[in-house]
Amino acid sequence: MRIILGMLVWVATVSAAEPLRVRLVTGGHSHEPSFYTMFEAMPELKVDVEPHPRAFEGNLMKRVDVLVLYDMIPVSTPEQRDRLRTFAESGKGIVILHHAICGYVDWPWWYENVAGGRYLSTSTYQHDVTIPVKIIGAHPVTAGLQDFTIFDETYKGMWISDKVNVLASTTEKTSDGPLVWVSPFEKSRVVFVQLGHGRQAHQDANYRQLVRQAIEWAGGRR
Ligand SMILES: [Zn+2]
Repeated sequence: MRIILGMLVWVATVSAAEPLRVRLVTGGHSHEPSFYTMFEAMPELKVDVEPHPRAFEGNLMKRVDVLVLYDMIPVSTPEQRDRLRTFAESGKGIVILHHAICGYVDWPWWYENVAGGRYLSTSTYQHDVTIPVKIIGAHPVTAGLQDFTIFDETYKGMWISDKVNVLASTTEKTSDGPLVWVSPFEKSRVVFVQLGHGRQAHQDANYRQLVRQAIEWAGGRR
Protein backbone atom coordinates (compact mmCIF):
# COMPACT_ATOMS: atom_id res chain seq x y z
CA MET A 1 0.00 0.00 0.00
CA ARG A 2 2.81 2.37 0.87
CA ILE A 3 4.37 1.68 -2.51
CA ILE A 4 1.12 2.49 -4.32
CA LEU A 5 0.69 5.72 -2.37
CA GLY A 6 4.28 6.59 -3.10
CA MET A 7 3.70 6.10 -6.81
CA LEU A 8 0.62 8.31 -6.74
CA VAL A 9 2.56 11.09 -5.06
CA TRP A 10 5.36 10.70 -7.59
CA VAL A 11 2.91 10.93 -10.53
CA ALA A 12 1.27 14.05 -9.07
CA THR A 13 4.66 15.69 -8.52
CA VAL A 14 5.79 14.98 -12.05
CA SER A 15 2.51 16.30 -13.41
CA ALA A 16 2.83 19.57 -11.47
CA ALA A 17 6.39 19.98 -12.71
CA GLU A 18 5.40 19.65 -16.35
CA PRO A 19 5.81 22.99 -18.11
CA LEU A 20 2.64 24.85 -18.93
CA ARG A 21 1.94 24.50 -22.63
CA VAL A 22 1.18 27.92 -24.03
CA ARG A 23 -0.01 28.80 -27.51
CA LEU A 24 0.51 32.33 -28.82
CA VAL A 25 -2.23 33.16 -31.29
CA THR A 26 -1.34 35.85 -33.82
CA GLY A 27 -2.71 37.23 -37.07
CA GLY A 28 -4.56 40.30 -38.23
CA HIS A 29 -2.27 42.86 -36.57
CA SER A 30 1.41 43.62 -37.08
CA HIS A 31 3.67 43.55 -34.06
CA GLU A 32 7.32 43.95 -33.21
CA PRO A 33 9.59 40.90 -32.85
CA SER A 34 10.20 42.00 -29.26
CA PHE A 35 6.86 40.36 -28.49
CA TYR A 36 8.56 36.98 -28.83
CA THR A 37 11.58 37.92 -26.74
CA MET A 38 9.21 38.13 -23.76
CA PHE A 39 8.50 34.44 -24.07
CA GLU A 40 12.10 33.50 -24.77
CA ALA A 41 12.74 34.92 -21.31
CA MET A 42 10.23 32.46 -19.84
CA PRO A 43 11.99 29.11 -20.36
CA GLU A 44 9.78 27.50 -17.74
CA LEU A 45 6.90 27.70 -20.24
CA LYS A 46 6.53 25.52 -23.33
CA VAL A 47 5.43 28.02 -25.93
CA ASP A 48 4.39 27.65 -29.55
CA VAL A 49 3.14 30.23 -32.02
CA GLU A 50 0.19 29.49 -34.24
CA PRO A 51 -1.24 32.24 -36.42
CA HIS A 52 -4.71 32.21 -37.90
CA PRO A 53 -6.21 30.32 -39.61
CA ARG A 54 -4.52 27.34 -37.89
CA ALA A 55 -4.68 28.80 -34.40
CA PHE A 56 -7.60 26.71 -33.17
CA GLU A 57 -7.18 23.73 -35.46
CA GLY A 58 -5.71 20.33 -34.73
CA ASN A 59 -5.70 18.85 -31.30
CA LEU A 60 -5.96 22.11 -29.39
CA MET A 61 -7.45 20.49 -26.31
CA LYS A 62 -4.67 17.94 -26.00
CA ARG A 63 -1.75 20.20 -26.78
CA VAL A 64 -2.49 23.50 -25.07
CA ASP A 65 -3.03 24.53 -21.44
CA VAL A 66 -3.19 28.30 -21.92
CA LEU A 67 -4.06 30.34 -25.00
CA VAL A 68 -2.41 33.75 -25.21
CA LEU A 69 -4.34 35.78 -27.73
CA TYR A 70 -2.42 38.52 -29.55
CA ASP A 71 -4.52 38.34 -32.68
CA MET A 72 -6.99 40.78 -34.16
CA ILE A 73 -8.96 38.83 -36.65
CA PRO A 74 -12.57 37.66 -36.75
CA VAL A 75 -13.21 34.14 -35.50
CA SER A 76 -15.91 33.71 -38.03
CA THR A 77 -16.48 30.09 -38.92
CA PRO A 78 -18.72 27.95 -36.72
CA GLU A 79 -15.91 25.38 -36.51
CA GLN A 80 -13.40 27.90 -35.16
CA ARG A 81 -15.91 29.24 -32.66
CA ASP A 82 -16.81 25.73 -31.52
CA ARG A 83 -13.17 24.86 -30.89
CA LEU A 84 -12.46 28.04 -29.01
CA ARG A 85 -15.67 27.74 -27.00
CA THR A 86 -14.91 24.11 -26.13
CA PHE A 87 -11.45 25.17 -24.98
CA ALA A 88 -12.85 28.00 -22.84
CA GLU A 89 -15.55 25.84 -21.30
CA SER A 90 -13.09 23.04 -20.50
CA GLY A 91 -11.47 25.02 -17.70
CA LYS A 92 -8.24 25.80 -19.54
CA GLY A 93 -6.67 29.24 -19.34
CA ILE A 94 -6.94 32.26 -21.62
CA VAL A 95 -4.87 35.44 -21.56
CA ILE A 96 -6.07 38.22 -23.87
CA LEU A 97 -3.34 40.73 -24.67
CA HIS A 98 -3.71 44.26 -25.97
CA HIS A 99 -5.20 44.42 -29.50
CA ALA A 100 -6.80 40.97 -29.09
CA ILE A 101 -9.65 42.84 -27.33
CA CYS A 102 -10.37 44.36 -30.77
CA GLY A 103 -11.05 40.95 -32.32
CA TYR A 104 -14.11 38.73 -32.07
CA VAL A 105 -16.26 41.88 -31.85
CA ASP A 106 -19.17 40.26 -33.69
CA TRP A 107 -19.37 37.41 -31.17
CA PRO A 108 -21.41 38.57 -28.13
CA TRP A 109 -20.90 35.31 -26.23
CA TRP A 110 -17.18 35.93 -26.38
CA TYR A 111 -16.93 39.58 -25.43
CA GLU A 112 -19.72 39.59 -22.85
CA ASN A 113 -18.73 36.41 -21.00
CA VAL A 114 -15.14 35.54 -21.80
CA ALA A 115 -13.32 38.79 -22.55
CA GLY A 116 -15.50 41.03 -20.41
CA GLY A 117 -14.83 43.93 -22.74
CA ARG A 118 -14.98 45.05 -26.32
CA TYR A 119 -13.23 47.66 -28.43
CA LEU A 120 -15.96 49.61 -30.25
CA SER A 121 -15.91 51.42 -33.59
CA THR A 122 -16.05 54.63 -31.54
CA SER A 123 -13.20 53.62 -29.21
CA THR A 124 -9.90 55.48 -29.52
CA TYR A 125 -6.23 54.63 -29.02
CA GLN A 126 -3.19 56.70 -28.19
CA HIS A 127 0.38 55.60 -28.83
CA ASP A 128 3.51 56.64 -26.92
CA VAL A 129 1.95 57.46 -23.58
CA THR A 130 3.73 57.35 -20.24
CA ILE A 131 1.13 55.47 -18.24
CA PRO A 132 1.02 55.36 -14.45
CA VAL A 133 -0.18 51.90 -13.46
CA LYS A 134 -1.83 51.37 -10.08
CA ILE A 135 -2.13 47.86 -8.69
CA ILE A 136 -5.55 47.25 -7.12
CA GLY A 137 -6.04 44.75 -4.32
CA ALA A 138 -4.13 41.52 -3.93
CA HIS A 139 -4.26 38.83 -6.60
CA PRO A 140 -1.87 36.11 -7.84
CA VAL A 141 -1.70 37.83 -11.25
CA THR A 142 -0.21 41.00 -9.75
CA ALA A 143 1.61 39.45 -6.79
CA GLY A 144 4.95 41.12 -6.11
CA LEU A 145 4.23 44.07 -8.39
CA GLN A 146 4.24 47.63 -7.08
CA ASP A 147 2.66 50.59 -8.84
CA PHE A 148 4.79 51.40 -11.89
CA THR A 149 4.88 53.50 -15.05
CA ILE A 150 5.14 52.13 -18.56
CA PHE A 151 5.56 53.69 -22.02
CA ASP A 152 2.83 52.14 -24.12
CA GLU A 153 -0.54 52.57 -25.84
CA THR A 154 -3.89 53.36 -24.21
CA TYR A 155 -7.45 52.57 -25.28
CA LYS A 156 -10.49 54.66 -24.41
CA GLY A 157 -14.23 54.40 -24.96
CA MET A 158 -14.37 50.61 -24.79
CA TRP A 159 -17.34 48.68 -23.50
CA ILE A 160 -16.25 47.06 -20.25
CA SER A 161 -18.49 44.63 -18.37
CA ASP A 162 -19.39 45.77 -14.86
CA LYS A 163 -18.68 42.18 -13.77
CA VAL A 164 -14.92 42.24 -14.38
CA ASN A 165 -12.50 42.22 -11.45
CA VAL A 166 -10.05 45.05 -12.13
CA LEU A 167 -6.51 44.27 -10.93
CA ALA A 168 -4.72 47.36 -12.25
CA SER A 169 -5.84 50.75 -13.53
CA THR A 170 -4.56 54.17 -14.55
CA THR A 171 -5.57 57.79 -14.14
CA GLU A 172 -4.10 58.59 -17.59
CA LYS A 173 -6.79 60.63 -19.39
CA THR A 174 -6.42 58.83 -22.74
CA SER A 175 -7.43 55.55 -21.05
CA ASP A 176 -10.69 54.15 -19.76
CA GLY A 177 -8.87 53.40 -16.51
CA PRO A 178 -8.98 49.60 -16.13
CA LEU A 179 -5.78 48.05 -17.57
CA VAL A 180 -5.85 44.51 -16.21
CA TRP A 181 -8.88 42.50 -15.28
CA VAL A 182 -10.14 39.02 -14.60
CA SER A 183 -13.24 38.32 -16.65
CA PRO A 184 -16.53 37.15 -15.13
CA PHE A 185 -16.25 33.83 -16.99
CA GLU A 186 -16.60 31.03 -14.45
CA LYS A 187 -15.64 27.93 -16.45
CA SER A 188 -12.02 28.91 -16.96
CA ARG A 189 -9.59 31.57 -15.82
CA VAL A 190 -9.43 34.50 -18.22
CA VAL A 191 -7.20 37.57 -17.82
CA PHE A 192 -7.16 40.66 -20.02
CA VAL A 193 -4.13 42.94 -20.14
CA GLN A 194 -4.70 46.12 -22.14
CA LEU A 195 -1.01 46.97 -22.24
CA GLY A 196 1.50 45.47 -24.67
CA HIS A 197 1.73 47.36 -27.95
CA GLY A 198 5.44 47.47 -28.70
CA ARG A 199 9.05 47.07 -27.73
CA GLN A 200 8.96 49.42 -24.75
CA ALA A 201 6.22 47.35 -23.14
CA HIS A 202 7.56 43.97 -24.25
CA GLN A 203 10.93 44.75 -22.67
CA ASP A 204 9.49 46.24 -19.49
CA ALA A 205 10.27 44.04 -16.48
CA ASN A 206 6.96 44.82 -14.78
CA TYR A 207 5.02 44.00 -17.93
CA ARG A 208 6.88 40.72 -18.34
CA GLN A 209 6.14 39.77 -14.76
CA LEU A 210 2.49 40.64 -15.25
CA VAL A 211 2.18 38.54 -18.41
CA ARG A 212 4.03 35.58 -16.91
CA GLN A 213 1.90 35.59 -13.77
CA ALA A 214 -1.29 35.99 -15.82
CA ILE A 215 -0.33 32.89 -17.82
CA GLU A 216 0.59 30.93 -14.70
CA TRP A 217 -2.64 31.87 -12.93
CA ALA A 218 -4.78 31.17 -16.01
CA GLY A 219 -3.08 27.77 -16.22
CA GLY A 220 -3.85 26.98 -12.58
CA ARG A 221 -0.24 27.25 -11.39
CA ARG A 222 -0.86 30.15 -8.98
ZN1 LIG B 1 -1.35 48.49 -30.22
